[in-house]
Amino acid sequence: MHRARKRFGQNFLQDSGVIYSIVAAINPNPEMHVIEIGPGLGALTRPLLGGLEQLDLLEIDRDLVAYWKAENLPGLNVIEGDALKFDFFEWAKSHASSGGVCKVVGNLPYNISSPLLFHLVSAANLIDEQVFMLQAEVVERMVSKAGGSEFSRLSVMLQARYDMELILEVPPEAFDPQPKVNSAVVRMIPRPDFSLNNAQWHALEKVVAAAFSQRRKMLRTNLSAYSERLCLSETELKARAQDISVDRYIEWAKELAN
Ligand code: SAM
Repeated sequence: MHRARKRFGQNFLQDSGVIYSIVAAINPNPEMHVIEIGPGLGALTRPLLGGLEQLDLLEIDRDLVAYWKAENLPGLNVIEGDALKFDFFEWAKSHASSGGVCKVVGNLPYNISSPLLFHLVSAANLIDEQVFMLQAEVVERMVSKAGGSEFSRLSVMLQARYDMELILEVPPEAFDPQPKVNSAVVRMIPRPDFSLNNAQWHALEKVVAAAFSQRRKMLRTNLSAYSERLCLSETELKARAQDISVDRYIEWAKELAN
């Protein structure tokens, strides 16, 4: 019997309706390449495997790695490792020649969700879709639009790279043990119109971090270091970071990287 480990954010999914919705969002087929982050005891793993020929599992907990290796299910490839260090680009590249779309799925440990989302950005041009269970508050920020109270640095950076959709809100009762917070499932699809090169992406990171550095301050203050290189209108100078659209931040990043 496995005892849930807090340090690995282990809240195991119990609710069959929620499990069904996540598997339906992935819509597995035999040609698809899927990696599941943190399979735990397999709430998602087993139903996913039903629709796939192959499924890669990435798990940090040695006991769970041993459990899955002992299960020895056909089509299952068990990788012991930390998702924050795993090379998702190489993983997707290794499947590129055989065709079929690449997807990443997971009921993620909440303590690593933001760094993991940023880590995955580096593989976004090879990964077709990501479906994740996250803390509801994080998903709200991910999908929030300019002008909304939750619109933040996370919203801009992830919306610059992905189209995102809230699929389902999930209460604590869906898990064992129950987390203290609400959860939500989000779908992330890399934007087909994404056109930033590395220098422009870094410029975006910098200008967005500066803009949101003091949420209550006007951009006249927060972006003063960039005022000579960016043509901010009078309205923009008086605006706050949360009022500026993602596309406008992208324009600024392109101007700065010129
Ligand atoms: N997928 C299972 C479910 O839905 O019941 C378990 C989800 S549980 C919230 C998170 C899982 O991620 C656990 O299996 C945990 O051991 C694993 N995990 C935690 N940190 C990890 C990391 N850095 N890299 C890979 N797996 C991790």
